[in-house]
Amino acid sequence: MPNPRFPTPGGPVLRAKGWRQEALLRLLENVLCVGEDPDNLVVYAALGRAARNWAAHDRIVKTLKTMDEDQTLLIQSGKPIGLIRTHVDAPLVIMANCNIVGQWAKAEVFYELQDKGLICWGGLTAGAWQYIGSQGVIQGTYEIFMRIAEKRFGGTLAGRFVLTAGLGGMGGSQPLAGRMAGAAILCVDVDPVRAEKRKAIGYLDAIAPDLDAALALISAAKSEGRALSVGLVGNAAEVYPEILRRGITPDVVTDQTAAHDLVYGYVPKGFSLDEVKALRTSDPARLMAASRASIVEHVTAMLGFQRAGAEVFDNGNLIRTHARDGGVADAFDIPIFTEAYLRPLFCRAIGPFRWMALSGDADDIRKIDDLVVERFPDNHIVTNWIRLARANVPFEGLPARIAWLGHGQRTEVALAVNAMVRDGGLAGPVAFSRDHLDAGAMAHPNIMTERMKDGSDAIADWPLIDAMALCASKADLVVVHSGGGGYAGFMTSAGVTLVADGTAAADSRLSSALTNDTSIGVMRYADAGYAEAVDEARDKGIDWFDLSAG
Ligand code: NAD
Repeated sequence: MPNPRFPTPGGPVLRAKGWRQEALLRLLENVLCVGEDPDNLVVYAALGRAARNWAAHDRIVKTLKTMDEDQTLLIQSGKPIGLIRTHVDAPLVIMANCNIVGQWAKAEVFYELQDKGLICWGGLTAGAWQYIGSQGVIQGTYEIFMRIAEKRFGGTLAGRFVLTAGLGGMGGSQPLAGRMAGAAILCVDVDPVRAEKRKAIGYLDAIAPDLDAALALISAAKSEGRALSVGLVGNAAEVYPEILRRGITPDVVTDQTAAHDLVYGYVPKGFSLDEVKALRTSDPARLMAASRASIVEHVTAMLGFQRAGAEVFDNGNLIRTHARDGGVADAFDIPIFTEAYLRPLFCRAIGPFRWMALSGDADDIRKIDDLVVERFPDNHIVTNWIRLARANVPFEGLPARIAWLGHGQRTEVALAVNAMVRDGGLAGPVAFSRDHLDAGAMAHPNIMTERMKDGSDAIADWPLIDAMALCASKADLVVVHSGGGGYAGFMTSAGVTLVADGTAAADSRLSSALTNDTSIGVMRYADAGYAEAVDEARDKGIDWFDLSAG
């Protein structure tokens, strides 16, 4: 449902002094165009913002339109603080978002600083203008479902019941990803507007009037092996325990409510949405306590499903952390999706790479789809995804594609695309970025780096090295984000954006930054002792120093 105040950018006309600046401007416009609450600059996940406030936003826009190619715009937590003269190979934009010194890095301090207008949270891709709508998270969720299907259910989720909750900006991808994996998936959300929105855009097949009707629809689809997504308006802290009480065990259970945020995200049971809204300002401490108490019941039910044989996993929303703080001692018996299913891919720096057609022309993405399928015919993760995404995932905002590509592959695609831009094969330049949840780019001991082989979970040196190396490798935008779900103290990550404008200079930037970024990813896992990463470093000629022999 496009918001007329935030139109999709596109077309051949430059408003800036060059395509690099214009590209970053279009990406900023794009995250607002596809965001959840653009009037408040919120892109997703309750408070993930594209800029600190409207004055900051307007100054960023003005600066991107007027700055020269040899200048660098500095942004501190969504506020532009100045321009420095650098050189044409330096990043155009350098950002740091929501980094709070260790002993102070707590949600309460974040809220206080935010209230004073001193900081804002950038999520993983909101603050760095890299969000492409639901597609990015759809593929992540789909890949998780497929790894579970391979591990437990013979390669498909057809005939399987997946239970989850949360139909927001990210969580709203779950019904579509579940359906694409063949499952009968039930998605609980407390807010009817969110459920209706997912149904209206074709991500959710049906909304059931009550739990009995929802379970009947799921049961019928499951027995026929038919893919189906069903929404249910309800509170997960009530619905999960009730399903458990009835003795029904789903095959797969997870959750993607905004549980990271006990005030602005999670809705405790027994409260209406209006009551929660009022309590956010009148009594946030009471709301936090009520949310934590509900999460205790929610996660206790998830553990009950696990004991009954379901495949249960945490989908990166800190729900286990809050449950443990609330007294659920075994909350971390539920594994995190990265460690459980994706780490072998990260060892080879295979992760969520994406590209956006700055022209706004969907044909550009179709042409790049063809190129990628042609270049990597044996890469089934990529070819399968592109086939499925073409058939099922509508473009939102600037046409874009995500594909899990690794070291060397990203550079190969980017250089081929830059050549297409140069030769006039595409309607305009293309921007490349990736999720911050990428091999060398994130330290998050409750998501990305949980239970690392060498115990290096909480060491944040890696994303900082990555960001500094990206600046030295000619990237167009480089960012260091911190906070994680919970806003402070949970995560540090690095982000990067590059522009393929068809020039020889872009060849050099793409090659250097993308190759070095994935090299660091492989080195990070090799250094932690993962054999797949050591092999990848050796096979791909990555100059990693193996000091393990002394
Ligand atoms: P969002 O704020 O847009 O949506 C959250 C949804 O949860 C809302 O629709 C809300 O109504 C619903 N909700 C809240 N409490 C509920 C309850 N008790 N029962 C049922 N529904 C409830 O957030 P989002 O962008 O969808 O992100 C969801 C979570 O996923 C966040 O915690 C985010 O940090 C996390 N996330 C994880 C990854 C990852 O690593 N896999 C990626 C993106 C987002």
